[in-house]
Amino acid sequence: MDSIVLKSYGKINLGLDVVKRRPDGYHEVRMIMQTVGLYDTLTMKKQKKDEITMRCDLSFLPTDQKNLVYQAAALMKEKYGISAGVEINLRKRIPVAAGMAGGSSNCAAAIKGMNQIFDLKLSTEEMCEIGVSLGADVPYCIWGGTALAEGIGEKLTRISPMPDCQILIAKPGISVSTAFVYKNLPLDQLQHHPDIDGMLRNLEEKDLDGICSKLENVLETVTIPRYPIIRQIKEHLLTMGAEGALMSGSGPTVFGIFKEKKTAKKALESLRSIQEVKQAYVVEPVQQ
Ligand code: ATP
Repeated sequence: MDSIVLKSYGKINLGLDVVKRRPDGYHEVRMIMQTVGLYDTLTMKKQKKDEITMRCDLSFLPTDQKNLVYQAAALMKEKYGISAGVEINLRKRIPVAAGMAGGSSNCAAAIKGMNQIFDLKLSTEEMCEIGVSLGADVPYCIWGGTALAEGIGEKLTRISPMPDCQILIAKPGISVSTAFVYKNLPLDQLQHHPDIDGMLRNLEEKDLDGICSKLENVLETVTIPRYPIIRQIKEHLLTMGAEGALMSGSGPTVFGIFKEKKTAKKALESLRSIQEVKQAYVVEPVQQ
């Protein structure tokens, strides 16, 4: 196989709790991760010239060592003594810097792609080891599907898949720095923590109402007061029939969970009235 086309899916967090701030600055988390059907397309092709060449349809994204895809290819070339080069093309749809792990997902896809085109025969575990050196969320993106992520996000447990539903994803045109959000999280003063264990039970029971009643992300305590548009979108989705709505990751992407496709599509249409929403999609949960 000389070339491969990979779907690189985004994720949402059904629950996000921060349990501890470590002395090294990292945060210990408990997150329920779910892959969704919104994906970037990554094409990788072997080339004779010993070079990594990368193109991306978003001109503001780097296509050099600063891109996680490039980093994954370079690291694996070095680690496995690969003398051939690789030509990479990335087509983005996942909102950038938005809490959907787009970069980590692209990185995971690149690791899988290198494994395939250079016939490295790596196990998922070996790929996760490479991934974690590039980002805490990369191992999860290699797994995909529904998972509990603990530690700094790299300790993964497979959990029951999310029941069938429609997920409306809405990204306002603001940028939120992940570092800023974590730095400003008043961990000792949090009044409430997400019921992650309760949600795990709801997932097992395929109880969508239970899941929707427990959607919670502690990072909203930082982002919502600063960016009220996040609350406005959440409230709008609930008014339009969402069973629950939440900010994903460190934001600003908001998602709403719907039982019926028709209701979700109607809510999608209605988002036109909120000018700040720059990207919106209706997708379904994906199991990989
Ligand atoms: P997370 O949910 O893991 O915090 P995110 O969705 O908030 O991730 P990304 O879309 O992964 O954020 O992008 C964060 C930054 O990473 C961008 O500002 C960009 O410069 C850099 N980056 C590096 N590689 C990529 C990539 N392949 N796609 C998108 N961003 C990338």
